[in-house]
Amino acid sequence: MLPFESVCALGHEQVVYCHDAESGLRAIIAIHDSSLGPALGGCRLYDYATEADALKDVLRLSRGMTYKAAVAGLDLGGGKSVIIGDRSIKSEALFRAFGRFIDSLGGRYITAEDMNTNVTDMDTIRRETRWVTGVNVQAGGSGDPSPVTAWGVFHGIKAALEVVYGTSEVGGRTVAIQGLGNVGYWLARYLREEGANLVFTDIDRSRIDRAITELGGSFVEGDQWYETQCDVLAPCAIGGIINSRTIPRVRAPIIAGGANNVLEDEIADSERLAEQNITYAPDYVINAGGLMSVYAELHQLPHQKAMDDARGIFDTVKNVLGKAQAEGTSSIEASNRIAQERIAAVRSTKRLWTGRV
Ligand code: NAD
Repeated sequence: MLPFESVCALGHEQVVYCHDAESGLRAIIAIHDSSLGPALGGCRLYDYATEADALKDVLRLSRGMTYKAAVAGLDLGGGKSVIIGDRSIKSEALFRAFGRFIDSLGGRYITAEDMNTNVTDMDTIRRETRWVTGVNVQAGGSGDPSPVTAWGVFHGIKAALEVVYGTSEVGGRTVAIQGLGNVGYWLARYLREEGANLVFTDIDRSRIDRAITELGGSFVEGDQWYETQCDVLAPCAIGGIINSRTIPRVRAPIIAGGANNVLEDEIADSERLAEQNITYAPDYVINAGGLMSVYAELHQLPHQKAMDDARGIFDTVKNVLGKAQAEGTSSIEASNRIAQERIAAVRSTKRLWTGRV
């Protein structure tokens, strides 16, 4: 597909290629849809095999952000950026150059952390532009959004339990968590506090040992996680893990976790899950707590507001799962429709206010 065709295919508004010879910066910023507000989404640093892969990733991720913000009820559009390269290219000059490109968009795109970027990188970008979130707490930022993300996932799991078992009670339920990083570890803590039994897996054994020492529970070796006899499989590591090969192995009645892009093929895999009577809490619905955290930072709202919004993911997940049941569709189709309807509704009111056709 030619670049312009791929940009149009998913309905993007604007895609910006950024190059700075001195620092070696090669980046792409994608603004998918700004109907609801400025396009906010993290900056991913990744050593893409080809430039086409980088474009594909930023287009897909930015569209996901549009839907995430829309269903979360935030006044944000969807955007994302990718910097091409591995961690060795990180420098003050590179992130400052990137910050100047973001600044040139005048607030249409706002960045934050993503894979391989962190609070320190956001602090560097902040020296060139105010259109950055996830900066450190001392500088007035909200810092790492992961605990808020995990808080939202925790409440999303409770909602899924209520839909499947008729009660949101976590005590005595077994949750198998894949990935004990920033999100998975905090999720495990919240679950344990309410008496859940925990099963862990991670490619990093030291993270499993720490979780078991602090929280109790047991572990399974990598691939066995899919077959864990439990109430909830909570993917909190990487994307694409739920697919045609793994779905037949799943024993749990619920899949609900913090990872992005959990389904390899959004439509086909959500249908497979529905056929197997597995309830799936759409990733971008249940993991929106991080976005709520940086939204609060953007509007200088108290941290507690983000935690309260993340708690509200309980109602959102229940609403999505209820709509899917009522309409006989998959949960992802139901949430996509909620997002599309909100965007269309807000667009139509803008027309009234401004008189634009
Ligand atoms: P992280 O890098 O801190 O943790 C990921 C963990 O997963 C690590 O412990 C790693 O060892 C483990 N892991 C990696 N590959 C694995 C595999 N194949 N099997 C088992 N374990 C594996 O990342 P994070 O910030 O906790 O994010 C986790 C997921 O949640 C990602 O998909 C991320 O995109 C998504 N997410 C994070 C946030 C946030 O606020 N951090 C917000 C929304 C979505």
